[in-house]
Amino acid sequence: MAYNQFTWQLTRILGINPYFRRIKFTLRNYQNMKNVHNTFLKYSLGISTLLLFASCADSTTEKDKTMNDNPLLAEWTGPYQGVPAFDKMDVIHLQPAMETAMQMHLTEIDAIAHNTDAPTFENTILAMEKAGEEINRVFTYYGIWSSNLSTPEFREVQGVLSPKISEYRSKISQNQALFQRIKTIYENAQKNPLEAEQQRLVELTYQEFEMNGANLNEEQKKRYAEINKELAALYTTFSNNVLHDEESYVTFITKDQLSGLPESFINASAKAASDRGQEGQYAITNTRSSMDPFLTYSDERDLREKVWRTYYSRGDNQDEYDNNEVIAQILKLRHERVQLLGYENYAQWRLQDRMAKNPDNAMELMETVWPAALARVEEEVAEMQAIADAENANITIEPWDYRYYAEKVRKAKYDLDSDEVKQYLELNNLTDAIFYVAGELFNYEFTPITDGSVPVFHEDVKVWEVTFKDSGVHIGLFYLDPFARQGKRSGAWATQYRSHANYDGKRNVLSSNNSNFVKAAPGESVLISWDDAETFFHEFGHALHFLSSEVKYPTLNSGVRDYTEFQSQLLERWLYTDQVINRFLKHHKTGEVIPEALVEKIKNASTFNQGFATTEFLGSALMDMKYHTVDPTDINPREFEKETLKALGMPKEIVMRHRSPHFGHVFSSEGYATAYYGYMWADVLTSDAAEAFEQAPGGFYDEEMADKLVKYLFAPRNAMDPAEAYRLFRGRDATIDALMRDRGFPVPKK
Ligand SMILES: [Zn+2]
Repeated sequence: MAYNQFTWQLTRILGINPYFRRIKFTLRNYQNMKNVHNTFLKYSLGISTLLLFASCADSTTEKDKTMNDNPLLAEWTGPYQGVPAFDKMDVIHLQPAMETAMQMHLTEIDAIAHNTDAPTFENTILAMEKAGEEINRVFTYYGIWSSNLSTPEFREVQGVLSPKISEYRSKISQNQALFQRIKTIYENAQKNPLEAEQQRLVELTYQEFEMNGANLNEEQKKRYAEINKELAALYTTFSNNVLHDEESYVTFITKDQLSGLPESFINASAKAASDRGQEGQYAITNTRSSMDPFLTYSDERDLREKVWRTYYSRGDNQDEYDNNEVIAQILKLRHERVQLLGYENYAQWRLQDRMAKNPDNAMELMETVWPAALARVEEEVAEMQAIADAENANITIEPWDYRYYAEKVRKAKYDLDSDEVKQYLELNNLTDAIFYVAGELFNYEFTPITDGSVPVFHEDVKVWEVTFKDSGVHIGLFYLDPFARQGKRSGAWATQYRSHANYDGKRNVLSSNNSNFVKAAPGESVLISWDDAETFFHEFGHALHFLSSEVKYPTLNSGVRDYTEFQSQLLERWLYTDQVINRFLKHHKTGEVIPEALVEKIKNASTFNQGFATTEFLGSALMDMKYHTVDPTDINPREFEKETLKALGMPKEIVMRHRSPHFGHVFSSEGYATAYYGYMWADVLTSDAAEAFEQAPGGFYDEEMADKLVKYLFAPRNAMDPAEAYRLFRGRDATIDALMRDRGFPVPKK
């Protein structure tokens, strides 16, 4: 469900958002840019800089030579304002491209910092927005390798590059001359406010620098940079360890061990085994999309335990890939870094620019919901135990039994067979469904691009052009990479290769969705679970958020961590609407619309298992916050996790959704560190906003509501304070009541 972590990590540097910012020049823009670069030229520092900048006006210079030699640095060409050359990706080019691009950006930044004119919005803030073209391009490829196409070769380069990237960032965040200019502009703007978007951009930029140590003295800065460099290396180690354990531990089973498993799963497992050279066997891979259905359906309790243990031991196998010591080091370094900045703990530093503002607010929300979730788990376990007893299973419910017996309860109580539901959830139909919703709410049309004019990085990736349905005006592209494969990270995520900005002509958006559906055998339909269908809508919500951006400056596309999941979570609600159900949820063989009775059951079951879902989530979210509000000096993560869960009263039948040693959200970058609660924070907004649609005359397709949705909740991105944007949409602040109703929990008394 993650909104690309790597993107996020990069976003948090000083308004320099490599992913979010990419300007493809129209001819007019190109002319403007030449002028800007020529201005830089006057103030730039050395010969190499002269060459770099001069190249914009002269095609025979050093820079162009490098750029031509290296396809990753080259300007994006072709239709749709230029598109990434995904067909020219070769990892051999990555390190030189990154190093050149980082250097080019640093040179641009230095030119801005040493401009002898008095600092202005244009010559400093806007100039920063415009800088970093090349690095934005290279980071796009880097992101694809890191998430979609990882290989041992890439990981080796990544290991070399990550400390260099960190150093590059520090050089910008600790550029004293640059910060002084920003500070002057910020202080002036406090006295004489600029136009709204400029004002917000100045404030965000200043805050970003301040939070990243711009006010530190020289000695502190040195240490600060060292810490960041060490952290970057640790993040890479952490994620590589998890990936290692995902790829290395595969449970192979034989024909006599398939009892209970659905046919589609058996077929996919047979293919996974033969892909690994184990023809005739069945592979249960060590990923959520394999583990989850196996634990739900397999009648083989011992195997369930084995698969469960393998999955939840990722990064915790007490071998060279064990992450516990890595976590301890990460926590200590993070703590030391915020102490330098004068904060009590990491969480306080991190949450100041979030919608929650501080850890207390986030904890208050979680602690309000937690007891209701635990009470529900007790009821769920009792129901499951009753079924097990009635079957004379002679067991006590253990964590590897939860999904299996929950499925039985679901069948008994709701008579809902997940596999039956799946027959109506065909990937192509669901793709049509998300496009339909975008058409109704956003006035968008999606047209497949099949002429090969847009390169892709894998044959599975499909591309659509996005236009306004009524006017035909071009908005951008949508790339979809749907299937799991080796080297692709697990889960689902959204990214953009180019973000919107209109300060200098309208820049189109290149958005993408990525998931890990299991590819069907040839000639068969790709069928997915209801949960996966929700996730599919979710990620598409992120893509719509990218596509609908109406901000002036690239940095204003940046996400507010506990707010940016809201738009995507809200979009999941449209899967439940009659319009989607009746048009798109059709049986993959007969074409028959999903029966009304089955839909009723799905809706009735929506509060089902909320004890489990809420508890496994909150287990992780609370742990994240606890790790970052204690002094980590002598921390032992394995012990800390155990003790914290005990103190919280975590039920023994449930494990955290992400145990610490593979909690990539928190430890493979700073992406979701003290931010995992954000999903629930966003859920509060989601439930509250969904109730507004339910109550509107036109329901979820109410035109006036749809207008407000786009205008206040999507288009402003971070150009407006999220709390203010929400108030404009809803007429008031969100309350927790709708969330509790949605989960079938009692609404707390005021
Ligand atoms: Zn998301």
